[in-house]
Amino acid sequence: MGERTCRFLNTPEPAKGERVNYETRRGKLRERLRKEGLDAFLVINVEGSDRPNLRYLTGFTGTFGILILGEEIVFATDSRYTERAGREVAGLPIEEVKGRWIGWLADRLSSLGLKRVGIGTQTTSLYLYRELERQARGVELVPVDGWVETLRRVKDPEEVEQIAAAAELTDEGLRWILGRLRPGMTEREVALELEMWYRKSGADDVAFDLIIAFGEGSSMPHYVPGERELSEGDLVLFDVGAKVDGYCADLTRVVALGRPAPEARAIYELVLAANRAGIEAVQAGISGVDADRAARAVIEDAGHGERFGHGLGHGVGLEVHEGPRLSPTSEDTLESGMVVTVEPGVYLPGKFGVRIEDLVVVRPDGCEILSSFPKDELLVL
Ligand code: ZN
Ligand code: ZN
Repeated sequence: MGERTCRFLNTPEPAKGERVNYETRRGKLRERLRKEGLDAFLVINVEGSDRPNLRYLTGFTGTFGILILGEEIVFATDSRYTERAGREVAGLPIEEVKGRWIGWLADRLSSLGLKRVGIGTQTTSLYLYRELERQARGVELVPVDGWVETLRRVKDPEEVEQIAAAAELTDEGLRWILGRLRPGMTEREVALELEMWYRKSGADDVAFDLIIAFGEGSSMPHYVPGERELSEGDLVLFDVGAKVDGYCADLTRVVALGRPAPEARAIYELVLAANRAGIEAVQAGISGVDADRAARAVIEDAGHGERFGHGLGHGVGLEVHEGPRLSPTSEDTLESGMVVTVEPGVYLPGKFGVRIEDLVVVRPDGCEILSSFPKDELLVL
């Protein structure tokens, strides 16, 4: 280290970190380190490779940052971000990496005298792991699974508020775009207009590539909007989400342009019943398997079990897809404070698909629905 390290003192009370207690989050990880006999845990975000975890633990939003979390905590970034880090990273001195960062990190680990250092398996490339192992002599890298990701599953009240704000904006954008739908518009046009609306209305970004599917395209759950033009009689599927202050929302609704076929109405009613059964089932203590089962049973009983290929839902937070999972193979149990989607669907290839997706907060005796866009009947435009 030596010459390659500069230290900056950050501003004492960064506005962004005021309401979130990053120290509490880091404290939980330190407890885990002690339990597992590790000296430190590494969070490495290179070109955005682990932005969510680093943001969760420090408030830093840039694309290059390193956190060495041991008894001593080191936060480092490079000159592109030192000023920003000074504003965002609450309560930690900022070090500036100069030169090759893997070499810097290797040196810093040994200067701190760290012997056993945990590194996340989901967020570390094999290349980085091998290079670090080669360069950081005397340091044992210990692969660990999902430590920060597990913490992130249960949201703080502040996080729930942020997700609720993203959900509200998401709903509002859908209302806006529905007022602009006209025959002849393409899926891509609709997706682009809605994305622009979200960004103009306060979103940092969209939470994922918006899915707008007309007619037969809606039978593909992860459809990519194309040049298909909207025409009378089409079902239109919107799977959309805004990202606000780093937090995502996720909402799916299906509407009809002009009178829908009776089959479309019937499938809509079925999926709605499954969505309601899923929401009814969600509460602290239920397994991801059982929550999924509650909704899936409704679709299976109607003879469409084969047409519901994906899981019932997923956690949402700094990432649009995170833990826990609600699916037939889930190993998770829901806990109060988790934010998850409930999104059953029935897809009839070549014809159409219907999915109804709500965002909910798990509570001890049920759940609180964050999505407010109406769903009680198939909306006909
Ligand atoms: Zn979705
Ligand atoms: Zn989803």
